[in-house]
Amino acid sequence: MNTELELGLERRIGKRSAAVVEKHLGIITVGGLLNYFPRRYLSRGELTPISEVPLDEEVTLIARVISNSTRQMRARRGSITDVVISDDAGAHAGGPRQPGSALPGTLKISFFNGFRAKAELQPGRRAMFSGKVTRFAGSLGLTNPDFLLLDEDPDTPGMDPEKLAAMPIPVYPATAKLTSWSIQKVISTLLDTVDLDALQDPLPADISARERFLPMPEAYRLIHAPQTPGDWRKARDRFRYQEALVLQSALARRRALLAAEEATARRPVPDGLLAAFDRQLPFTLTAGQAAVGKTLSDELSQDGPMNRLLQGEVGSGKTIVALRAMLQVVDAGGQAALLAPTEVLAAQHFDSIRRTLGTLARDGLLGGFGDHTVQVSLLTGSMPTAARKQALLDAASGTAGIVIGTHALLSDNVSFYDLGLIVVDEQHRFGVEQRDVLRSKASRPPHLLVMTATPIPRTVAMTVFGDLETSVLDELPAGRAPITTHVVGLAENPAWAGRIWSRSREEIDAGHQVYVVCPKIGTDDDGDFSPGEAEPAPGELEGDGPGRELASVTAVVEHLREEPSLDGIPLAPLHGRQDPALKSETMASFTANKTKLLVSTTVIEVGVDVHNATLMVILDADRFGISQLHQLRGRVGRGGLPGTCLLVTTLEPGHPSRRRLDAVAATTDGFELSQEDLKLRREGDILGASQSGGRSTLKLLRVLEHEDIIARARQDAQEIVAGDPSLLDHPALAEAIDDYLNPEKEAFLERG
Ligand code: ADP
Ligand code: MG
Repeated sequence: MNTELELGLERRIGKRSAAVVEKHLGIITVGGLLNYFPRRYLSRGELTPISEVPLDEEVTLIARVISNSTRQMRARRGSITDVVISDDAGAHAGGPRQPGSALPGTLKISFFNGFRAKAELQPGRRAMFSGKVTRFAGSLGLTNPDFLLLDEDPDTPGMDPEKLAAMPIPVYPATAKLTSWSIQKVISTLLDTVDLDALQDPLPADISARERFLPMPEAYRLIHAPQTPGDWRKARDRFRYQEALVLQSALARRRALLAAEEATARRPVPDGLLAAFDRQLPFTLTAGQAAVGKTLSDELSQDGPMNRLLQGEVGSGKTIVALRAMLQVVDAGGQAALLAPTEVLAAQHFDSIRRTLGTLARDGLLGGFGDHTVQVSLLTGSMPTAARKQALLDAASGTAGIVIGTHALLSDNVSFYDLGLIVVDEQHRFGVEQRDVLRSKASRPPHLLVMTATPIPRTVAMTVFGDLETSVLDELPAGRAPITTHVVGLAENPAWAGRIWSRSREEIDAGHQVYVVCPKIGTDDDGDFSPGEAEPAPGELEGDGPGRELASVTAVVEHLREEPSLDGIPLAPLHGRQDPALKSETMASFTANKTKLLVSTTVIEVGVDVHNATLMVILDADRFGISQLHQLRGRVGRGGLPGTCLLVTTLEPGHPSRRRLDAVAATTDGFELSQEDLKLRREGDILGASQSGGRSTLKLLRVLEHEDIIARARQDAQEIVAGDPSLLDHPALAEAIDDYLNPEKEAFLERG
């Protein structure tokens, strides 16, 4: 056992430092701090070109102070210290200058009550700054950044100046109270006191040899205290691989455990519901649907549980594939549950599945019993008590063959008679843990089919869904009309604001329907993003000036009721805070083509399927993420009618957030877009950590960049687990996996 890693920090760095580290970083063990790696490294020799500093991003840069002044705030108590910093290019530019505006090559920094900044950041000093770049009154700036004076390194007296200049400065993920510099000092103490040579290496020796990795003790020293850039690169490569191996071994172990479970085989029957359903299907399955259908059918027929992820382009027809699998299970005497992420989608599935089943669907009271029919039940959190009780009863007694619901299906009081298959639709947030809760609803492990809302790159599938086998539906059913997407920039073309509504009118006059999507519900709220899913990262949402009024459902509905070109058009609002009955009423009216124009939030983001809708207007589209926009526009062009999507924005052309819109307008290929999406987002956002407020659990691994590492580690992990299922011969690896899976860190795996 690596007892040294488990040791309390106070034993190695003293009580006081340990208390500080615990308070600010939440780290209490030696291992925790040793594995707290620098985020990046800066070199003392260089000044970061300020012209290249990206807007809206966290940066760490080295620059020289050119001025420092402090003023009292007028409206409230306190002072502001304004510091202008510059790279070398800007430092030479002299001449008169508007007060308050910054030169190119300079960055303006404001500190509120910045007493230390006032005293220390004197003109001429060089310092390292880190903070988020914002635009303020036309020039780039930082507010209250963390800073560190560089000319007074306490740790390196008498060092050869040339060596010193080359020596990388580690930049640790810091907090406002505990700077990167202080973290470095504490870790340096730790490296002096800890017995690195006593640590057991989680990496098997043959892998280390094959990859020519540094020995672990040296790697720890060099990642925290490199003398040259080559040092930290070598150390980082090692830990990155180690991270990939630990993660993949955890997943491989999980796959092995799941595969070893015994499930009930649900074999197809010759003349059952599925056969009857296939006979009445109004279209032919695409080749992909047929192939995936065969895979699912075969896996359902086995005694081991199916654990499969189905990825499919928006509109590729995943629901039919899932429904056919559910019917096979019902034929074999089991029940199937379909989990949807929202009530709107659950209700829609309930209606459309019953419609698709036609005479094969039995209504609770009417139909016969035991013949070729199946009862489909709906179970959501907000159903009236009586209906809910009935649905619970039908699930528990086995009367309901197919139960459709939201996460309410996960609650304790739901039980099934014989749950054979769980389908999770539009997976955003049913992670490992929720999958396990659902699995526990069955007396024997049920078969599981998870369907993703958007296609995801291979490596993301390998990490986030690494415990599942994957199938892909990459073709759309024939006759699917193309969707044309335009970016409507109101900043450069204000007149288009009116044109959007006359365009909507044309669509409605042609007999079609229109979606209008807004980022907010009312004028005073933060929107209707469903928690924990494709919500844009916080960083994505900024970058518009303060006070920008975003389109809200209520304001837009009011506005459109007065809009002359929409005179007499039935329109309705739809959002997550409405009463569920009102929501389903509104949705029903839109599906029935009575409501012509629906003004909604992203509640229609996934799965909603109204064939007659041909135009989607997304207002303040820059507030949404790429996958969200792609999902949203997938709601139009479904019924063989060409679809149009207008991405409306008031941001200036060149604004970074407009890149997302251009990307979405440029392609309808979901795989390409998700790749682009991941590039534009930061890693933590991909894996969800930032949304739950925590840090990203992946430290060195980047799921997009390190595809080959992840693939190699997956292979290695597979072999290790196959040869040593309980990892008895790999105790350090087993321990590293347990650390990785501790409750706090499991947030990463849970995410899905
Ligand atoms: P998604 O994969 O986005 O969930 P859906 O399952 O909602 O897509 O299917 C989109 C639409 O395509 C549905 O109206 C469905 O009935 C229809 N559809 C599915 N498969 C086919 C097919 N093979 N041919 C024609 N239409 C199909
Ligand atoms: Mg769907």
